[in-house]
Amino acid sequence: MNKLDEQRQKEIQQAEELLFAGPQALGFAKGLFQGHFVSDWVMPYPRIPEAQQGELDQILTELRKFLNADLDAAEIDRQADIPRSVIDGLGRIGVLGMTAPKEYGGHGFSQMANCKVLEEIGRRCASTSVFVNAHHSIGIRALLLFGTHEQKQKWLPKLVTGEQLGAFALTEKEAGSDAANVQMQARPSEDGSHFILNGEKRYITNAAIAHELTVMARTPVPGSDKTAVTAFLVTPDMPGFEMIEARMPKTGIKGTATGRFALRDVKVPKENVLGPIGKGLKVALTVLDFGRTTFGACCTGAAKTCLELAIAHANTRRQFNRTLGEFELVKKKIARIAADAYAMEAMTTVTAAFIDRGLEDYMLETAMLKVFTTERLWECVNDVFQIYGGSAYFIDLPLERMLRDARINQIGEGANEVLTSFIALVGMRGPGMEFKEIYDTMMKPSRDGMSKAWAAGKNRLSATVLVPDVPVQSEQLRAQARQLGRLIRHFNFAVNRALITYREPILDMQLVQERIANAAMDLFASTCVLSRIDGEIQFAGRNGNSVSPDHSAGDLFLRQSFRRIRGFLAGLTDNDDKAVIAAAKSCLTSGSATTAA
Ligand SMILES: Cc1cc2nc3c(=O)[nH]c(=O)nc-3n(C[C@H](O)[C@H](O)[C@H](O)COP(=O)(O)OP(=O)(O)OC[C@H]3O[C@@H](n4cnc5c(N)ncnc54)[C@H](O)[C@@H]3O)c2cc1C
Repeated sequence: MNKLDEQRQKEIQQAEELLFAGPQALGFAKGLFQGHFVSDWVMPYPRIPEAQQGELDQILTELRKFLNADLDAAEIDRQADIPRSVIDGLGRIGVLGMTAPKEYGGHGFSQMANCKVLEEIGRRCASTSVFVNAHHSIGIRALLLFGTHEQKQKWLPKLVTGEQLGAFALTEKEAGSDAANVQMQARPSEDGSHFILNGEKRYITNAAIAHELTVMARTPVPGSDKTAVTAFLVTPDMPGFEMIEARMPKTGIKGTATGRFALRDVKVPKENVLGPIGKGLKVALTVLDFGRTTFGACCTGAAKTCLELAIAHANTRRQFNRTLGEFELVKKKIARIAADAYAMEAMTTVTAAFIDRGLEDYMLETAMLKVFTTERLWECVNDVFQIYGGSAYFIDLPLERMLRDARINQIGEGANEVLTSFIALVGMRGPGMEFKEIYDTMMKPSRDGMSKAWAAGKNRLSATVLVPDVPVQSEQLRAQARQLGRLIRHFNFAVNRALITYREPILDMQLVQERIANAAMDLFASTCVLSRIDGEIQFAGRNGNSVSPDHSAGDLFLRQSFRRIRGFLAGLTDNDDKAVIAAAKSCLTSGSATTAA
């Protein structure tokens, strides 16, 4: 076995242990890859319970008042700092402990309600929404999810009010996208009372302003020479904690303090271990599920701002004796932003509800939400920038800031390329295992193998033949629901064909993976949109509204999304992949732009 194969086997084994060790429920996204429509995950469209909605409305009113009066996004960008008064205000309103249980001083809100709060902040200031995310969605999340009662009692009360702040520290020089490659070491002391941490972390949001950092470091695996990642609660007052760079100057979200720090022989008490020893990667992945969900909410808020700005300018700016909004190429952009914002909100709500309902294993959906909303927001910002023309380029308008701010989203909390590949590979594992069952049995028949292979074969075959039912309640949505069902069957067929055609090499074929992941993301997005429209029609009907609500944005999204899905699937057989790889190889091996061109 060569070095690359060895590395591949190690990665596969690591992923199997990390992602597929527990019970494997068939969630919505995994269901798509099997040709199923797991309807009870996504329908009916989730609603915040009335009792909580009242409380949420009150908080949103208070929050809006505070943000209108005290949040100056342009000044935060200029000063590259979020004033303490803003942090205190957010803490007073309860934003910094929104989902923390009431017994520790939090609001005990659901993720769905929390997403509404983040959307509101994301509408106005990306620095502030990223700061809140770093503190609440990921900074204190490991403590909330994996902390013992004693740990929570000790740390949470000050963290949920914002008196103290949290951060989440995974990234290192050698552990960026390759997050499992954490090098920071945590050696247990001889008496077992503490761990001694050594190493450096970089690009950590809130690092220099945090009082509590969830830090990932490697601990020895007893009885072997291996190490595994463990999560620790570290405080900056621990001797040996060194802040190397408190605020790394950067392109956007300038108000956030992104830092680099070192731990040099830092003694961390064993009481500060979060979750099981050696299970830090699982802790990190679970934490990031939450971060990626609120990412979706922040992007939704920002997309809504793009829409408002686009409408305002298109209705007032006149050229050629007409308003810009009278030109079809401007209309097209506005319609697309509206459609995307509608879908982003629907996807965020549905995904947040997975968390609230305690469903198992929604990591594919949170990854889809993150990639989809961040890519769409980038398009939205680009479109509104174009509508404003030259004026967008000057710093008296918020657009250049929004452009700079939005760029981090496609990189942070897992680069979109890495997540795209992850979506395709984790999704294809289910049908892939069934094919393997069939293949192994054909090669080496056995009674037990035959019955498993028979079941797997039946599953694969029925998914290829049957069109899954998409059970909408509203008569006027039946045609779109049927179309979605047919696309899921088409998708499943394409996944099967790709698995049969490429077999194991598909693990490295990212161009194929990207099309499959893109189709899956659009299927999920369309489902959320359909569910949302259905919910709104039913809700209006129940409340005696005779006029059906306006669903033109949702309707457009479905049309465009269905068209994209067909395009992605067609691209699996009609593409320029060989030429793309050849051109890139020529550039990469020549090592020079001039030779290659
Ligand atoms: C402003 C900011 C705030 C951050 N906050 C935090 C934080 O609070 N906590 C924390 O732990 N981290 C944080 N990060 C780190 C962030 O999560 C990483 O930057 C991100 O995971 C990418 O890692 P990297 O920068 O090392 O890029 P690299 O891993 O070097 O990747 C560079 C690029 O290569 C491509 N790439 C990499 N791997 C693959 C692959 N397998 N397939 C295809 N393409 C690939 C992608 O396009 C990627 O963008 C922050 C980063 C920034 C910039």
